[in-house]
Amino acid sequence: MHRQLLSSTEDMLHFFSAALERIGSGVILFDEQNTILYLNRAMETISGWPREEMLGRNLGQLAPPSMRERYDTRLYPGASNRVQELALAPHDIQLVRKDGSHCWISVTLSHVSSGGRDIHMALISDVTARRQAQERERLLSLGFDETQSAVLITDAQAHVVYPNKGFRRLFGFLDSELLGRYVPTLLAPDDHSGEQMAAYMTRLMSGQSIRADERLYRKDGQPLWCSVTINPIFDDYGKLVNMVVVLTDITRTKVHEVLQHRMLDAMVREVPTAEIMQMMCEEVEKIAPQVTCSVLRVEDGRLRTLAAPSLPEAYSKLVDGTPVGPHSGSCGTAAHCGETVVARDIASDPNWEGVSHLALQYGLAACWSTPIKSSDGRVLGTFAFYYRQPMEPDSFHRRLVEVIVHLCALALEREEARNRIRRLAFYDDLTGLPNRSLLHARADQAISAAGHTHQSLAVLFIDLDRFKQVNDSFGHPGGDELLRVVARRLQEQTGPMDIVGRLSGDEFVVVLNGCDAQGADEHSERLLRALGEPLQLGEMEIRPSASIGISVFPHDGTSMETLLHRADMAMYQAKHSGRNLARFYSCEMDQSAQERLALENALREALALGQLQLHYQPQIDLHDGRLHSVEALARWHHPRLGNVPPVRFIPLAEETGLIGDLGQWALHEACHQLADWREDGLEVPSVSVNLSPTNFHSPALAEMISRILHEHGLSASDLILEITEDVLLDADPVTLQTLRKVHALGVRLSMDDFGTGYSSLSYLRQLPISELKLDRSFVNGIERDSVASALTQAIAHIGQSLHLKVVAEGVESSEQLRLLGEQGYHIAQGFHFTPALPAPALAQWVREHLPAMVEG
Ligand code: C2E
Ligand code: CA
Ligand code: CA
Repeated sequence: MHRQLLSSTEDMLHFFSAALERIGSGVILFDEQNTILYLNRAMETISGWPREEMLGRNLGQLAPPSMRERYDTRLYPGASNRVQELALAPHDIQLVRKDGSHCWISVTLSHVSSGGRDIHMALISDVTARRQAQERERLLSLGFDETQSAVLITDAQAHVVYPNKGFRRLFGFLDSELLGRYVPTLLAPDDHSGEQMAAYMTRLMSGQSIRADERLYRKDGQPLWCSVTINPIFDDYGKLVNMVVVLTDITRTKVHEVLQHRMLDAMVREVPTAEIMQMMCEEVEKIAPQVTCSVLRVEDGRLRTLAAPSLPEAYSKLVDGTPVGPHSGSCGTAAHCGETVVARDIASDPNWEGVSHLALQYGLAACWSTPIKSSDGRVLGTFAFYYRQPMEPDSFHRRLVEVIVHLCALALEREEARNRIRRLAFYDDLTGLPNRSLLHARADQAISAAGHTHQSLAVLFIDLDRFKQVNDSFGHPGGDELLRVVARRLQEQTGPMDIVGRLSGDEFVVVLNGCDAQGADEHSERLLRALGEPLQLGEMEIRPSASIGISVFPHDGTSMETLLHRADMAMYQAKHSGRNLARFYSCEMDQSAQERLALENALREALALGQLQLHYQPQIDLHDGRLHSVEALARWHHPRLGNVPPVRFIPLAEETGLIGDLGQWALHEACHQLADWREDGLEVPSVSVNLSPTNFHSPALAEMISRILHEHGLSASDLILEITEDVLLDADPVTLQTLRKVHALGVRLSMDDFGTGYSSLSYLRQLPISELKLDRSFVNGIERDSVASALTQAIAHIGQSLHLKVVAEGVESSEQLRLLGEQGYHIAQGFHFTPALPAPALAQWVREHLPAMVEG
């Protein structure tokens, strides 16, 4: 401070004024009472006060109102408090200008002593511009620091120059740990390839900014998904000097996106649910390294582990199967009450009472479980986070779980739907038994297991006897009921290791694990007995029966396909041996099956080459001895096999589908023959052709018949079709329609082999038939057996009362003929007259015998 001796204030002012006027800085002189003595021109400009108005005023006039008091020397006697404060060091203070506006000034004080008076001199410069710049900077860095985003400023080589608060907060670093660090290795220690960085740098150098989503890591190693923007900053010479990196945490969206994408993708690829859950857990544990996840499914009120890749296996085993309920650990409780359960310390948590040691022994200290619910609110499972220290989930974990539980629900619901579909696809709807595909799959497994353990196994092919009849008499509901009962009885008679399935219609299969031939024999006896128990169907009680074919692994085959095929063959034998029986497969059966196959091929060929023939057997009207009709009977002479009887090849044709062609051929052939005879002048009133039930499955049959008749110039009354009662046992609804259409043409229908079938008489009334043919087995013995003759008499009555022509076939003697005539039979056929003859022989026979008969 300058101290000079001057005589008076005036002298001093005078002395200085010329000099002070020229100084660029503002100058104020004031006395001890803070009264302004002088101010220079520069100060006039700074304060806006003209000098005249200021002189003699208190210095406080220039201070903000709140400060004014402190310049009042009456309140602060002695030296001015404020001026003393200011004297300590140069200061920035605020100055109020004349127009009331504020500006910032920097003040330096000096004292001058003059005649015992202290004069103060304030040197003042206007620093408003600097202060404003500083304020802007303060606000800027405030904004920079307080923004939600993390911002980094780096030098041109990507070394941290300035991290904002948001960055330090998001990544968990201290300032000192950041400055000078190379950003790529700081935030993505393993992920960043030099190549990518080089590409980034090239772009930045060319003035382009970069936008990318990156997986980065916090200081603690936890991954963070960030949206990253990097802007390059150039100096005036175009040199890259800085980079501004803005990072926004998008973990939530990204985790959501990544998990959702991966899980949905897996679901679309039909990856098994457990595998999807496993993958999800592994992914989550990567994102949140301090947690261990588990996904449990709720099944029949129990927890089942779906995935828990990092939990100790022994612990998972303990959890698996525990019942859902209150106080059953976090998961059991969460599943029970349908709400999230947090056990921050398993050791003391009430929901873990009694079971806490199970978790604690494996170092699991906390568990947070969230129920996984279906869209209709059912608890499908639970998703749990285990921690190794007592703790609660943080917000990041909560966010994660929100996302995951949703996806788990989707996966589990989808699996439920798939299981439903699987049930539909693999189980028989009616009986609930495995269907053919599942049966095969399970049997294949059982067979391979039996192979490994050198055990035997039996396959039982079970076919109900006369199922069609039940279906027909009781309708489909009755048939369905029978099938359900049979399924139940089969299940009751088998053990948990055995397999029961339904193949189709009335065919069932039982696979008996570890069962040899003797066991299978006993077991099938038991099955037959159980199946034969009476059963109420509607008003009626029936006793179901079945035929069983048995094959045994490994003796009869080593694949399900072979075993089933052979059991089927054995079943076929059982049927033919009288039903309600079990038969074992034998290799002779295979032989006969192979013969059948050879025969089938031969028959196919014979039909194609026209090697079949029709023979004709006359039917005689007993009233007038005239010819009623001739029955066309198929004959097959095979060049190598010789004569094959119809009882062999007709059933074969039926089983193999050749019967359609055979029927058509017979119709053609018979009509052709009839037309030929007529052309030759032989009077044959009509021809009777045998058709099988299967022939009536073709809706075009009537049309075909009408075309054939037309082709040969015949009328409908020239043809009789012999059908058997089996036609009625047929489930095919087309059959009855076809019968009616054929009848509508005017073609007569004859009920063949009457008395051997099972159709009810009421059916007979519904059918448009005109003849009843007594089965030849009844004729055999009527002359000796009164019961047999009573039967033939009864059948004659039935026919008569239905106004049908009654025909007796298989008549071999005159005695039989006499009796049948007495009983009222209209027509007879049989060896007594002649066996079936080739067409020319028949013609000759008619010419030779009939006139005599007519006379006789
Ligand atoms: P079916 O329709 O009952 O034919 C009558 C069978 O009895 C014929 O046997 C015939 O030769 C035989 N027969 C005739 N009179 C006597 C007799 O006095 N005593 C004895 N014991 N038998 C007699 P066949 O020709 O062997 O035919 C057997 C079965 O084959 C026929 O029984 C019929 O169901 C079927 N069949 C024959 N030809 C055809 C055909 O073209 N189409 C169809 N679908 N089935 C046919
Ligand atoms: Ca016949
Ligand atoms: Ca017959």
